[in-house]
Amino acid sequence: MKIAVVGGGLFGCTAAFILQQNGHEVHLYEKNGAIFGAASGINQYRLHKGYHYPRSNETVRECLQGLAAFKRYFGESVIGGVERYYAIAAKGSQTSKAKYLSFLDANGLPYKIEKPMCKELDLFVRVEEERVCPSQLRNICAKKMALAGVEIFLNAPAYKDMRDDYDQIVVSGYAGNNDILKTLGCSIKKYQYEVCEKPVIALNRISEWFRDFSLVVMDGNFCSVDPLGHTGWHVMGHVEHAIHSRNVGYAPEVPARLKKYLDQGRIHKPIGSRYQKMKKASKKYMPFLDEALYQGSMFTTRVVLPRKDKTDERPTIVERIDDKVIKIFSGKLGTAVEAAHTTLALVQTNRRTECRPAAPAASPNGRTTKTCKSPLEVQPNYARLAKQASAAKAPRP
Ligand SMILES: Cc1cc2nc3c(=O)[nH]c(=O)nc-3n(C[C@H](O)[C@H](O)[C@H](O)COP(=O)(O)OP(=O)(O)OC[C@H]3O[C@@H](n4cnc5c(N)ncnc54)[C@H](O)[C@@H]3O)c2cc1C
Repeated sequence: MKIAVVGGGLFGCTAAFILQQNGHEVHLYEKNGAIFGAASGINQYRLHKGYHYPRSNETVRECLQGLAAFKRYFGESVIGGVERYYAIAAKGSQTSKAKYLSFLDANGLPYKIEKPMCKELDLFVRVEEERVCPSQLRNICAKKMALAGVEIFLNAPAYKDMRDDYDQIVVSGYAGNNDILKTLGCSIKKYQYEVCEKPVIALNRISEWFRDFSLVVMDGNFCSVDPLGHTGWHVMGHVEHAIHSRNVGYAPEVPARLKKYLDQGRIHKPIGSRYQKMKKASKKYMPFLDEALYQGSMFTTRVVLPRKDKTDERPTIVERIDDKVIKIFSGKLGTAVEAAHTTLALVQTNRRTECRPAAPAASPNGRTTKTCKSPLEVQPNYARLAKQASAAKAPRP
């Protein structure tokens, strides 16, 4: 089948190469000039096992279930040996120390209790939880798409006539899902959108020990720090102060002053940054922040199901919208491979859908690979790999 995947984040790219590897002809559409520019490139980079979700056993189950497949496909981007700590705040936590420990035991999540860093923390546990390097993850996706033969269209948003040009359309635009669905004439749902700031800080100047240090203070309006790939820097999170705007609706409400920063990577001196506020609120749990050196902030949108504050659940949902359209709503990074296989199963079970003859590969909807800058042009080594792969696939004389 001829399939359009819309959205060049982790979930769209993974679906694209897995569909192509399974015999389909896949075109990936990304509205911006590069893949991984939005949430897949800007997040907290934890490969969750569930420690962060004491109020949702279902999220723990999903995280653990997806992990093995994720590592099989993306193992080179996974960084182990992290000094990973989860802490329960002495005051104001929605989950008490006793409740958290029984949650860990009930879910078979191993931990070692250590002395808290400061008196504001009631519990401090060290756990074995990995993280991902976002640039390696992006490179693996680009390489796998090139090897499989996925055709990539950048600066190419979804368009109305996609329905005529493709047998199936996979919508994987995360914060842009409703926008894409509207373009395709599908019904849309309300989500909770959060425009987030991720300050980047240098902690390794305090001590090299911080290089792989990660701490999450739970459970409520607290804070976290996590290493950023192999940069030696960290990203900060704060449940309250990092969120510049939160709305339940059909699209994110992005404050006008932040529009130019959104999904643009690290901004050196963003106007209206909440970094100082986050630092002030977090210092009592993380005294080392006094020594942190600010490197700028990244801004992106998070999407969660509305009215789930009680459980804070983060499911990944893949669903068929109509006979042409499948939607991926992503929860946690580790579920991307499972989501792609579910997408493949939905495509395969819809074989009764009328298949159209493939349009000329070079010009879906008038676009050509020449007008779109693809990672094949950006990364010449991928082009070589793709050539090798297609030579390997070519029938022997
Ligand atoms: C602040 C933050 C922290 C997080 N921390 C973690 C964490 O530590 N661990 C974890 O597992 N998960 C975390 N998550 C969740 C995780 O990052 C996301 O679930 C995941 O990255 C989303 O991937 P995606 O491919 O669905 O979306 P994205 O990466 O956002 O990709 C969607 C793509 O679709 C494109 N697009 C949108 N509209 C259109 C259109 N009309 N036409 C064409 N293209 C379009 C966008 O430009 C974008 O490139 C975090 C999320 C956020 C925001």
